[in-house]
Amino acid sequence: MQKSIERIAGDSEGHSYEFPVFRFEGTDKAAPSAYLQAALHAGELPGVVAIDALMPMLEKAEAEGRIKGDITIVPQANPIGRAQYHFGEHQGRFHLGTRTNFNRGFPLLAAPDVELLPDTTLGTADQRLKSRLLQLSIGHDIVLDLHCDDEGLAYLYVQARLWPAMADCAAAMGVDAVILWDEDSDGTFEGASITPYLNLPAEVARFDRRVAITVEYRGILDVDGALAGADAEGLYRLLVGRGVILDQALSTPGSFTGLVAPLENIDMMPAPRAGAVLYKVKPGDRVAKGALLATIVHAPGEADGRTQVFAPQAGIILTRRSRRIIRAGEDLLKLVGDRKSADARSGTLED
Ligand SMILES: [Zn+2]
Repeated sequence: MQKSIERIAGDSEGHSYEFPVFRFEGTDKAAPSAYLQAALHAGELPGVVAIDALMPMLEKAEAEGRIKGDITIVPQANPIGRAQYHFGEHQGRFHLGTRTNFNRGFPLLAAPDVELLPDTTLGTADQRLKSRLLQLSIGHDIVLDLHCDDEGLAYLYVQARLWPAMADCAAAMGVDAVILWDEDSDGTFEGASITPYLNLPAEVARFDRRVAITVEYRGILDVDGALAGADAEGLYRLLVGRGVILDQALSTPGSFTGLVAPLENIDMMPAPRAGAVLYKVKPGDRVAKGALLATIVHAPGEADGRTQVFAPQAGIILTRRSRRIIRAGEDLLKLVGDRKSADARSGTLED
């Protein structure tokens, strides 16, 4: 394993950022390669501790000569966000300098060619970081971007063309749900990882062995040793299942039995009033149409001071907020409906 340090120039003189990259060299050039990164949203740490638990497993495989395909690991992909504290609160989702989401605005290339990456010399530090992360990942057959939600189940975002060919990966990771998306116009990292292949001939794109996933490892507070160990084993199973690592002692996972739904089935449930949220449901709950989801206490102590929010359709609660204060219009939760959401946001991944 080789460790190197990436440096990203800051937006002013005397100021730069750095992050480590770990590379394991595979022994079989025909084997699939894998790229894993975590904490692109810098405060989302379940994937960071999962990688921390995975590294000894990779080092053991390397010592035993079982790493077939190249593996590149970026345990903390966002040194800019990592350093952003605003009045004592960590802010790892948006770049403070540009107000841009760290998981939007990745260049959507026409082909998987690093020569097509834009020149970011005169751009901003977050643009330089995005360009470099994409450059590090391009060329790998398997690209995993580890995130987490506010409070939620373990689930994946997957481009619809890769499904169901990728069902074995979801089974290996042991996640609860898979959300399929079609088009990414906002430039998420996952979108930027898969878009360059979408217009290539099938024999070049190789969707049978290509994997690109935004992994949502539950909630922001689910940073836990036992979960990290289980997630590391899931990642390891995926790498073995796809032939990146050889491990004959490992049994193959069964078929994926979790929830699979298109993005358009998600109801985000904007809050009708601002106030304190009293949730009636939690992630994993199955709800019927019309079921009470939450009560918002917007005028405490007053007769009409509470507003209830009901399920617009039957489905499963995927996520909810980790904080209980809400503004009108902010999303209360993600309900994966049994059918298309009546107010489906034409949009992209909400990670
Ligand atoms: Zn995220």
